[in-house]
Amino acid sequence: MYFDYVIVGAGIAGAVMARRLAEEKDASILIVDKNSFVGGFCFDYRNQDGIIIHKYGPHIFRTDNEKVWSFLSRFTDWYDYQHKVKIYIGGKLYPMPINLDTVNSFLNENFTAETLSQYFERQKKKYDEITNVKEVVESQIGTLFYDNFFKNYTQKQWGVAPEELPPEIVSRIPIRSNRDDRYFTVKYQGIPVNGYTEMIKKILDHTNIKIMLNTEFEEIKSQITYSKLYYSGSIDEFYNFKLGKLPYRCVKFKFERYEKEWYQSAGVINYPNDYEYTRITEFKHFLPHYTHATVIAKEYPSWNGDSSYPIPTGQNRDLYHKYQALSKDDSIAFIGRLGEYQYYSMDQIVDKILNMSL
Ligand code: UDP
Repeated sequence: MYFDYVIVGAGIAGAVMARRLAEEKDASILIVDKNSFVGGFCFDYRNQDGIIIHKYGPHIFRTDNEKVWSFLSRFTDWYDYQHKVKIYIGGKLYPMPINLDTVNSFLNENFTAETLSQYFERQKKKYDEITNVKEVVESQIGTLFYDNFFKNYTQKQWGVAPEELPPEIVSRIPIRSNRDDRYFTVKYQGIPVNGYTEMIKKILDHTNIKIMLNTEFEEIKSQITYSKLYYSGSIDEFYNFKLGKLPYRCVKFKFERYEKEWYQSAGVINYPNDYEYTRITEFKHFLPHYTHATVIAKEYPSWNGDSSYPIPTGQNRDLYHKYQALSKDDSIAFIGRLGEYQYYSMDQIVDKILNMSL
């Protein structure tokens, strides 16, 4: 069977690519996914109470990018959710990212925005060059806050010392001297009103796109021909690990349902220094739900399971580039978080795909 394009993986990267090819090239497209559902790591579903659960952890859509927002808005309406996160330290909850209230409450101080900036100025460590997570944080707010809020969380989450992780992992977390307690301050933020899976189904709903679920690409590749392949799985797997395995961090979730209105006071609470889990998500915060039950997910770092986060250390990036060099022509392109081995958020993926030349 012939298709103009074959796409492996029906996550957000594969789906947006399929739609672009269908509309801009009027081409025939086959999208295959090993799962029984579309959506990839964005997959969500309604439980018995009607609560939309994110199977692979909290997904909060946010972007400053007009093009990305208007593209996705063709396929969903948005619930205007502003993400809030708290952090549990020494038996107390504080706003995260760190802001004026976090510092005043943690230090039992009474700083104003101005005196807080002066405090950070005194605390911050000087580095000639910022090369890792520890230096990003210490160069802004010093060691005390790094030790309590970032050090153990990062070590627990990535299984790697913060000194070994590149700055961009943590530079997305702002430090504020005002009272703003939103996790993201961006132009557009929200949750698809009927969930991510419904949005992705709509993106794929086009006469030129054929979807094959429960299908490993390996199993069908001898039966199909195509002019170009877009692969959103792991590049090392595609090449049968012939240059060695690229490390990925995995996460495991323990879901719990409670017969009560609310479990916690924010959508996400981080646990840097206590317990084996890194954070607890309560899904009911993300969308309006009219039920007396609630569902939470405790998130545990893990080294086996579905690969979800690339670990972009220098050594791993080098191995990725060696894999990339194995594809000699442009009949294959690697896309998305796994295919590009990049710690992308959803909007970065969509932006990348919308701007790729076809
Ligand atoms: N981080 C931290 N403490 C926190 C929250 C975040 O040390 O309470 C660091 C940690 O290294 C994490 C990174 O900041 O990997 C990015 O956090 P984010 O919440 O954006 O991670 P994600 O939701 O993508 O897992």
